[in-house]
Amino acid sequence: MPAQERKIQAPQPNPETQAFWKAAEEGKLMMGKCTACGAVHYYPRAICPFCFSDKTELQQASGNGTIYTYSVMRRAPIPYAIAYVTLQEGVSMMTNIVDCDLDAIKIGQKVKLAFKPTEGGPPVPCFAPV
Ligand SMILES: [Zn+2]
Repeated sequence: MPAQERKIQAPQPNPETQAFWKAAEEGKLMMGKCTACGAVHYYPRAICPFCFSDKTELQQASGNGTIYTYSVMRRAPIPYAIAYVTLQEGVSMMTNIVDCDLDAIKIGQKVKLAFKPTEGGPPVPCFAPV
C-alpha cells in the first residue's frame, strides 16, 4: 500500500513574497540576492539582511543541498520530517524532507529540491534524498 501523503497547508503569498511563489509554481526555488554586497539570503527579502540595502533581487537556486539538522514529527497523524537544509549556494532554509524512509534520514545527507502540492495554493519547496 502506498504511503499516505501528508496534506500541506497552502502558503499565503503577500506582495513581498508573490514573485517567490509565482516562481515556485514554475518549479523554481528562488533565493534573495543582494546586488550591493553580493550575499545571498533565504527567504528572499526586500531589504538585504546583511547590509540593509534595498538592492535585492531573486536568484534561482540550484536545488542541491545537504541536511544540516532535522527532526521527525512522529506524533502527527502522518509523521513527517522537518529540517534545515543548507543549499549549495550557502544559505540554509527550513523545509521538509520527503519521499524517503524517515528513519533513514541523516545529517549531512545530500538532498535535492522536490516541490510538493498544497491545498489550493502554490507548491512548497521540499527536499528528497539524492
Ligand atoms: Zn547586502
